[in-house]
Amino acid sequence: MKIAFIGLGNMGGPMALNLHKAGHVLSACDLSAEACKKLGADGVPIAGSAVETLAGAEVVISMLPASQHVESLYLGSDGQPGLMEKIKPGTLVIDSSTISAASSRKVAEAGAKRGVAVIDAPVSGGTAGAVAGTLTFMVGGSAADLERARPVLEKMGANIFHAGGPGAGQTAKICNNMLLGILMIGTSEAIALGVANGLDPKVLSEIMRRSSGGNWALEKYNPLPGVMENAPASKGYAGGFGTDLMLKDLGLAQENAAAVRAATPLGGLARNLYAAHSLAGHGALDFSSVIKLVQKK
Ligand code: NAD
Repeated sequence: MKIAFIGLGNMGGPMALNLHKAGHVLSACDLSAEACKKLGADGVPIAGSAVETLAGAEVVISMLPASQHVESLYLGSDGQPGLMEKIKPGTLVIDSSTISAASSRKVAEAGAKRGVAVIDAPVSGGTAGAVAGTLTFMVGGSAADLERARPVLEKMGANIFHAGGPGAGQTAKICNNMLLGILMIGTSEAIALGVANGLDPKVLSEIMRRSSGGNWALEKYNPLPGVMENAPASKGYAGGFGTDLMLKDLGLAQENAAAVRAATPLGGLARNLYAAHSLAGHGALDFSSVIKLVQKK
């Protein structure tokens, strides 16, 4: 299949590479020359712009940071037309960025007017999941469009869920990430408490992993450097899932909670803790660096 892939960052890069390895014909692009160079070195064809990726594309995939990037790409900004106007009717658009459900619905509506099918398909599983092709996709859109996307999603992920209509994938994603943000802070507090009492963090982490406190952070993403060789914590908190991206997701969860009058006290507290962590200059570090807030210096 001919696939246009836009956004080659920590997640988009390895996702595009998996599609290339599976035999799809890609045309990929990113605003960052460095991101393009990295993927180009792996043999993925790089286009000069988003519009250029469209030549012959049957599927368009985007993996961008936030709502404003997705809206300006597809719908345009500052009087510039968006990409949607250039996408051939009949094409399938899969947006895997984590953005607001309202933005996803806007893009889907613009697509419907042009005869372009759009699904929101945000992911979970981190950069390791993106590299391994084991991501979880949470899809919003019609069941028929999800079936069209399935053969492509299967090359990047191990679990594919249909959450509901347009925007529903995003709603599922912010519920999940609100829980993850809270979990990472709780896990950090527990490890810091044990270490302050002289426990070996590896032993403590293993005890909690196999006990009732067991969770994804302890399984795959320990926040303390040196406990887990491949976790971002052991690589200077580089790569991974940025603190500012987690802050964005927790902000989306709070906006949504306000709109439906839901009570999310821990989600609100977590957003404020990541905001303080970002203000302290750690916005670009992986979100597990939030342990710095509670670690004994
Ligand atoms: P990233 O910042 O590493 O990559 C985003 C890329 O998009 C950058 O390379 C940037 O240059 C590019 N970009 C921005 N606007 C563009 C445009 N108009 N055209 C082309 N390229 C453009 O972010 P990431 O970690 O890859 O995350 C991408 C999305 O996936 C975010 O919405 C994030 O919340 C979500 N997500 C990330 C993770 C993770 O572990 N990193 C996990 C699940 C979901």
